[in-house]
Amino acid sequence: ERLLSQSHQQYEDSEEWSLRPQRFEQYIGQEKAKGNLSVFIQAAKLRSETLDHVLLYGPPGLGKTTLAQIIANEMGVGIKTTAGPAIERPGDLAAILSTLEPGDVLFIDEIHRLSRTIEEILYPAMEDYCLDIVYGQGEMARSVRIDLPPFTLVGATTRAGMLSAPLRDRFGVTLKLEYYETHELAAIVSRTAQLFRLSISPEASGAIAKRSRGTPRVANRLLRRVRDFAQVAGTKEIDPVLASDALDRLHVDALGLDEVDHRLLRAMVERFGGGPVGLETLAATIGEDAQTIEDVYEPYLLQQGFLQRTPRGRMITQFAKSHFGYEEEEE
Ligand code: ADP
Repeated sequence: ERLLSQSHQQYEDSEEWSLRPQRFEQYIGQEKAKGNLSVFIQAAKLRSETLDHVLLYGPPGLGKTTLAQIIANEMGVGIKTTAGPAIERPGDLAAILSTLEPGDVLFIDEIHRLSRTIEEILYPAMEDYCLDIVYGQGEMARSVRIDLPPFTLVGATTRAGMLSAPLRDRFGVTLKLEYYETHELAAIVSRTAQLFRLSISPEASGAIAKRSRGTPRVANRLLRRVRDFAQVAGTKEIDPVLASDALDRLHVDALGLDEVDHRLLRAMVERFGGGPVGLETLAATIGEDAQTIEDVYEPYLLQQGFLQRTPRGRMITQFAKSHFGYEEEEE
């Protein structure tokens, strides 16, 4: 198992599900998004209205799915969950929309992957709570209008820019999730440890947090691996030494960069003179999927100032060169 591996519903075990915060007060960090959302939720409840459609965007593992669930819980409504690639035909969308109760949340993960046809059926559903379904073709084509109960669409995407403009415009609320601060991740690690019935020192939580690349999913995943080491060592107490040993053995460096990050940066220096190099070329060189690099690896490297995006491609920064000691190799 790759530490950063993308989580879609299919990979999600019941354990990750059980770790999910259910209410705002358990959801650590993202104060801005949380603050805004809770105002909109309270206002909607005071007016006995359905919450406006919400678009959540940000890198994987930052808590978009969790927030969708919390929105439903705080509104006191049900939630139906699906993902862009799972809705292939109009009938798929109609099937899930027809199960909604009034006020329910419909969560669509990876909403940027909806086809244009599906998007166009979604517009009237979002605006007027109705569906126009066309049966048959040519002269035989008939259109049927189905009324839907009012509902809240919560869409999640890694980048808002990947959404078509007309779809983006139909969301009343757009919230960007940010990478977490180390102290917030440490709090998340402590919370998860408690759920695992482990005792962990604040220093050990901090050590795991620092290497979690700003991402709760990574923090929980690292804690799980550390728990394995603790289990084999026959202890239920995680101290900083045990945590650091385990993390070293997982090849996660002090900044949370793993082997793929290092291969990517090294390839840029050794094969492309530091760049600029196009994403596809880089992906092919290190044998990774371009989309995965763009969604999972690159955002953190950009945020940390190791990479730069230029019109001609990706470039490594001077900061990264000196930090990783790539200086000499370049000459
Ligand atoms: P995304 O949908 O953005 O990929 P998820 O909502 O699936 O991310 O979150 C990944 C995991 O991280 C969840 O299992 C959840 O337990 C944890 N998590 C995410 N955000 C938070 C948070 N703010 N506080 C505590 N745990 C969180």
